Amino acid sequence: ISYDVTASQVSLTGQNAVLVTFNDVTHLERAGQMRRDFVANVSHELRTPLTALIGFIETLRGPARDDAEARERFLATMADEAHRMNRLVADLLSLSRVETDERVRPTDRVKPADIVTTILHRLEPLAEAAGATLSADLPAQDVALPGDEDQLGQVIGNLVENAIKYGGRGVSVTVTVSAPAYEPQLRGTGVRLSVADTGPGIDPVHIPRLTERFYRVDDHRSREVGGTGLGLAIVKHIVNRHRGRLRIDSALEKGTIFTIILPVEAPGAGHSVTSRGAS
Ligand code: ADP
Repeated sequence: ISYDVTASQVSLTGQNAVLVTFNDVTHLERAGQMRRDFVANVSHELRTPLTALIGFIETLRGPARDDAEARERFLATMADEAHRMNRLVADLLSLSRVETDERVRPTDRVKPADIVTTILHRLEPLAEAAGATLSADLPAQDVALPGDEDQLGQVIGNLVENAIKYGGRGVSVTVTVSAPAYEPQLRGTGVRLSVADTGPGIDPVHIPRLTERFYRVDDHRSREVGGTGLGLAIVKHIVNRHRGRLRIDSALEKGTIFTIILPVEAPGAGHSVTSRGAS
């Protein structure tokens, strides 16, 4: 625990005294430390591809100058590194944007099953290239709920991309949207949106930390598949903004299920929703 201590001279009923005030600043110190860690992480993450790029440029100007085959190979790797930096910057911007509007609840009404259909369509080529199968289990009637369409699309996109990236060849990925039902955690009606894969699973010791920025279970694997380490941190903030819940269930060698529970009604409508949902 850290204290900010201030002492001031006061005069109490004519007698001189010193008033000492203790202010608990532990939370400020922790926030400061987290900010410093974040800056150090970002610098490190940006520097890795930059160092590689500088190295390749020097090789291209020197030893590989007249080697056409090596030049092509190096240029391809340089393009990969530049794309990696681009993804990192895009994810950093997304993260900062979702953190900024986390307090502002979305007011548009969106249909989760529609969003799932759009995103799965977009990711079909990626799945095919990786040897993954995508499928959806959607409710007969899609319900509308308060949400931000782009952000919920980003949530589904990040989770499905992870399932494809970490699932390995032959993985099956199923996205399910449930019909609205009473959710005790929300004390109201909610819709469950889950992304399940038949991949290698995640050791339970890692699960509590998965949504931390730059936390990776296998650093090498994450970089190999082009991960930035920010995907699940972005997911967490978007779910928070929607006042939803995120749940991760995983078993090694069986697979992983990410479930998001989203409230169907905006706050204020809560009372009637609770009674309707519970009946
Ligand atoms: P990354 O950019 O590294 O993918 P994320 O925040 O999206 O970062 O995910 C954090 C880590 O969680 C990943 O590095 C990976 O180790 C693990 N992970 C995420 N989704 C899955 C999944 N479906 N199966 C196995 N591991 C996963």
